[in-house]
Amino acid sequence: MRTIYLAVVALVAAFFTSSCTPKQVVVDDQLPAGNIVFERIINDTVYVHQSLRGSKKAWFYWAFRVRGAQGKRLTFVFTKSFALCERGPLVSLDKGKSYEYLAEEGSTPHTFTYTFPDDAKEVWFYECHPYTPQMWEAFLSKRSHKGDFETGVLCKTRKGRDVPFFRMTTKNSLPKKSVVVSARHHCSEAPASYVMEGFVAAFLEDSQLGAWLRENVELTVVPFVDMDGAVDGDQGKWRLPHDHNRDYTEFLYPETAAFASLMAETEPQVFMDFHNPKLYKYNDNYIYTPYKAFSGVTEYNFSALIEKYQEGDLDYRASDNMPYGVSWNKAGNYTDGLNVTGWVHNNIKSIEICRTFEIPFAYANGKLVYPDKMRKFGHGIARALKAYIEGEELVTEIPVVPAQ
Ligand SMILES: [Zn+2]
Repeated sequence: MRTIYLAVVALVAAFFTSSCTPKQVVVDDQLPAGNIVFERIINDTVYVHQSLRGSKKAWFYWAFRVRGAQGKRLTFVFTKSFALCERGPLVSLDKGKSYEYLAEEGSTPHTFTYTFPDDAKEVWFYECHPYTPQMWEAFLSKRSHKGDFETGVLCKTRKGRDVPFFRMTTKNSLPKKSVVVSARHHCSEAPASYVMEGFVAAFLEDSQLGAWLRENVELTVVPFVDMDGAVDGDQGKWRLPHDHNRDYTEFLYPETAAFASLMAETEPQVFMDFHNPKLYKYNDNYIYTPYKAFSGVTEYNFSALIEKYQEGDLDYRASDNMPYGVSWNKAGNYTDGLNVTGWVHNNIKSIEICRTFEIPFAYANGKLVYPDKMRKFGHGIARALKAYIEGEELVTEIPVVPAQ
């Protein structure tokens, strides 16, 4: 009898403890590529800012999780510098399995408000769609033609991590072209990785295109150049004393030195490096390539082919590409050091196409940007590559651009 009595007391106590104690809202960075500095919470307003972690200028990457906010409506304020695109943050209620933009709730470059569902014990918020090394591995593990490629380690990072490397060589013939693609020279530019993934997917699929690519193209991929920053959730951009994509003069980072060696050994004809631009209303509303001073008619023709063969409803227009000498795309942008495309152009004699892609965070010519659309855009680049190798010419001279 006494045992039953004690058990009932314990149950009643547990009920009151769980239902009457106010839940504590906890904001932290314990999620993949997490980055947040929690400042304070006053009533229903949470004050935070993104951690720059050694970047010399303000940048906008952040990622945090919130626990204990079930049923609450909270406003988050970024106190240091702008941190949100026009669609607001990405929100995940299932620990990263799926994400949605939060635009319906309204947001500004510095604030957003979110009503937590009553059963949402843990909610993840990201500045942009994340793309982690685990996602790259999961992508490869689900593909066909696993026997046709090798994976390995490009080098070790300063923190001792392996920088992943992928290569697919032609089996029965000499490749017509060798292609190298890379992402995350700026580690926080995660959404661009979906374009890279979509491009690689074309090589690994059971289709006429896939078969043709495997027969004719050698493909080398370095999906996370700044691997430490991609895992740790750093900004990467403006990293002191200069970031990875300004390190091709000094080679302070083991990843860039190893990448340069890889390029010299591979001698590709095509090199593409995937990026995201600035977050908010600054050349960020369409996909574009910033042309270099050296960009010739071959680049312009390739752009036209990408426009023609594009997939994914992101409305890429070759005319959106940024001529050299316009906006930020000037010599003054490279005083910190040479970027990777500049180095490749100067040092890899075989190179024909050498370019960066800037993939907007939220909108591309009015179309909302989602991972699947980015993957499809990458897949379309592979179709354009085939057309290029087969000699299709849409542009035979560089369009005249008014001086600025
Ligand atoms: Zn970048």
